[in-house]
Amino acid sequence: VLRADGVWKAFGDREVLRGVSVSLERHQVVALIGASGSGKSTLLRCLGLLEPIDDGQIFLGDEDISDPRVDGNRVRARLGAVFQSYNLFPHLSVLDNVTLASRVVHRMPRKDAEARALDLLARIGLGDYARAHPDRLSGGQQQRAAIVRAIATDPEVLLLDEITSALDPELVGEVLELVRQLAADGATILMATHEMAFARDVADRVVFLDAGTIVEEGAPASVFGAPQHPRTREFLARVT
Ligand code: ATP
Ligand code: MG
Repeated sequence: VLRADGVWKAFGDREVLRGVSVSLERHQVVALIGASGSGKSTLLRCLGLLEPIDDGQIFLGDEDISDPRVDGNRVRARLGAVFQSYNLFPHLSVLDNVTLASRVVHRMPRKDAEARALDLLARIGLGDYARAHPDRLSGGQQQRAAIVRAIATDPEVLLLDEITSALDPELVGEVLELVRQLAADGATILMATHEMAFARDVADRVVFLDAGTIVEEGAPASVFGAPQHPRTREFLARVT
């Protein structure tokens, strides 16, 4: 459903993505791993049309969304993205945060958007916080609310960038549990993560990015259990 084909991206004279090709099938969960600075966030931002690319193509379904003529807002409305931190608008209630895109971008009537949001929030135990502002929530609750906001519009693909790395260790579990639940429910997820145990457990496929190049990818059991490339071995030895 989402596919990058030979994507190049530089910031100034620094080549950050060097011909990256990666694809994500419907209902698949793909974990993107790699050292700090290897280009994971940049790749996610390029795929989510939050950053223009220099060369290559990106397809969402059959559509070349990297074509400069496409309406970026229309494409972004089909995707959900959650980042490391500061995901919620501080001046809006949790409920307004969750329903904003449904109401404004998808023009869903407020009543319908709120009914759906309240249902989603209740399901993850945040029903009582719907009218609260984000600063009343713990970091883990905020990230879960941010994930609910990202899925409120039924996105075709969910892009998650290190969504637990800004959290206190005791709050990581509840956020990962929600992702695990979404994956089990059939969501299509591309996630950059440094939670190797979680990636191994939940991902269908693991992609290892090294200095802007994918040097190895495959099933978690093979990438983690029997890494082929020396760079992968080196990285895994360092982080696990
Ligand atoms: P981390 O694990 O630390 O999140 P990452 O794999 O997500 O790292 P990126 O954030 O994609 O790495 O960064 C890759 C490289 O691109 C880094 O050298 C970074 O400094 C550079 N970079 C990223 N965004 C920009 C930007 N907007 N302007 C200039 N350089 C950038
Ligand atoms: Mg990053």
